[in-house]
Amino acid sequence: MSAAEPLRDAAGECDLIVVNVALATMESGAPYGAMRDGAVAVRNGKIAWLGPRSARPRTLRAAVELDGAGCWLTPGLIDCHTHLVYAGDRAQEFEQRLRGASYEEIARAGGGIASTVRATRAASESELLLASERRLRRLLEEGVTTVEIKSGYGLDRETELKLLRVARALGSAHGVDVQTTLLAAHALPVEYAGRADDYVALVCGEIVPAAAREQLADAVDAFCEAIAFSPAQVRRVFEAARREGLPVKLHADQLSDLGGAALAAEFGARSADHLEHSDARGIAALARAGTVAVLLPGAYYFLRETRAPPVTELRAAGVPIAIATDCNPGTSPVTSLLLMLNMACTLFRLTPDEALAGVTRTAAQALGLPDRGRLAAGMRADLALWDIGDPAELAYAIGANPLAGLVRRGNVLRWP
Ligand SMILES: [Zn+2]
Repeated sequence: MSAAEPLRDAAGECDLIVVNVALATMESGAPYGAMRDGAVAVRNGKIAWLGPRSARPRTLRAAVELDGAGCWLTPGLIDCHTHLVYAGDRAQEFEQRLRGASYEEIARAGGGIASTVRATRAASESELLLASERRLRRLLEEGVTTVEIKSGYGLDRETELKLLRVARALGSAHGVDVQTTLLAAHALPVEYAGRADDYVALVCGEIVPAAAREQLADAVDAFCEAIAFSPAQVRRVFEAARREGLPVKLHADQLSDLGGAALAAEFGARSADHLEHSDARGIAALARAGTVAVLLPGAYYFLRETRAPPVTELRAAGVPIAIATDCNPGTSPVTSLLLMLNMACTLFRLTPDEALAGVTRTAAQALGLPDRGRLAAGMRADLALWDIGDPAELAYAIGANPLAGLVRRGNVLRWP
């Protein structure tokens, strides 16, 4: 349906119309897919019509009319890579490191990821829910309407499933769409020290099938790195996911180039994430497979990395680029997706248009959700209203939150 096409069945039937807004549709063409003085009509949680106000069909009526006061309307934001469900706290460790303790000293004292795993295993589902919803709330305050949440701090069957259940419960409790990802192959649990292949066998033989059986996972992820799992081990995890019909994603080439991007592409992964060390072969493979590159500037910043992901090469190869918080206690204690827009531009040299597409259109692609991330007829009515004069402000400003209104699936959560 084209924007200006009259809606024969729309007369008197739309639930909602937003008028007096500038639209950042994020459709390709003009930067931001911008459309001045626009209007968006919503029916049954979807966009029924949008276009310039002057083209509004005369028959179009809506039960509720919202005035956007000239603000900008974008798709609801999508954080496509988080580990936000965990227990415990790593602030002390941050402090110890700044006082000179090495990573190894902290790890020997039981710190690092092992401490998060210990606290997470000990926490009940309600304790985890409580700890995680503070982080989720901060994302929602910045216009996030869809968030991906990974497991990966359980590293045993029971706790990995518990994390996925908590992630699902967070979605229902907070009116946000949660996509769950099983990341049992995140790190080697201490009880499997020196027996990584045995742990991978547990992941493939028990944890992946259980998560699939209980319909708790929308995708399967792994961490391919010298400090985590080898390409051969990741391959076994991906094969287990494939047997269950689950799509895959990969933490790839973050600290070294183990060929993670090419491995992700070989399995048709929805996304390959981090990619600081990916080479030309990996980038070409991503382009061929249509795999999204998810860049995580928060972790790059927090770890004080110096090698940025190959943005120029990804762009030249036509690999879609998404941006996410990577919210996690160890390497990216970030709960601001807007800050990631800024860092993607300052640290990785994305344009503000690319950065905004990275948390809308391409983030939806990274999650395999073609029904959102753009403003167009037929898409989900997830709408964020921003009190800004230009969409570049979303990436430009640091520490500002200009969110003025939020609509999710046609339900008005807030409006000025
Ligand atoms: Zn991650």
